[in-house]
Amino acid sequence: MGNNVSYESTFAEEVFENVDFGEEIKMCMQCGVCAASCPLSLKMDHPPRQLFTMIRAGKRDEVLGSGALMLCTSCYSCTVRCPRGIPVVDVMHGLAHYALKQGFIPRKHTAAFGKEFFRQIYKLGRIDEKELSRRYFFADGFIPGIRNSMNMADIGIIMLLHRRMKLLPERPIKEIKSLRKMLDKATEIGKGGARA
Ligand code: SF4
Ligand code: SF4
Repeated sequence: MGNNVSYESTFAEEVFENVDFGEEIKMCMQCGVCAASCPLSLKMDHPPRQLFTMIRAGKRDEVLGSGALMLCTSCYSCTVRCPRGIPVVDVMHGLAHYALKQGFIPRKHTAAFGKEFFRQIYKLGRIDEKELSRRYFFADGFIPGIRNSMNMADIGIIMLLHRRMKLLPERPIKEIKSLRKMLDKATEIGKGGARA
């Protein structure tokens, strides 16, 4: 059963109807555990708890334009600790996906991120956070890469401290060959679907 919270806007309804896991927000009791658990909350313009309040308040542009949606690293700390069992990380992904569809996030950047993400999964079966960041930050060239790296240096330190990023290179998982076969098959099916 949800909270006795009033929803002032149609934006909340829009989220419930269109965002994957959007209806889960109804269960939020605003305890703030998710924000306190998030290694990136200090860097986020609006941590998860605040985003959920803003949805209730109808702040559509601020929510869908929030940089926090793309900062989420899927570490699952929030989801594991939420006392209401809300899949916070899935809501964050759902909001990011919806913001992308609504034109709030430049496709160029998400495409660069997605390409590198897939490349690493194919190579290692997991993500090497520092390698992913390095390639993503430098996707627009050397100078923007340096600027991005400096802007995000404090996040890197926080991730190291929270053991969300290692200094040593990540090794491939044991069943990497099986995973690659599955990814090859999925790619083949995807291309077939795109041609259909
Ligand atoms: S931890 Fe769960 S209940 Fe608490 S603010 Fe975050 S989403 Fe809401
Ligand atoms: S999954 Fe995303 S929002 Fe949740 S704690 Fe991790 S970085 Fe923060």
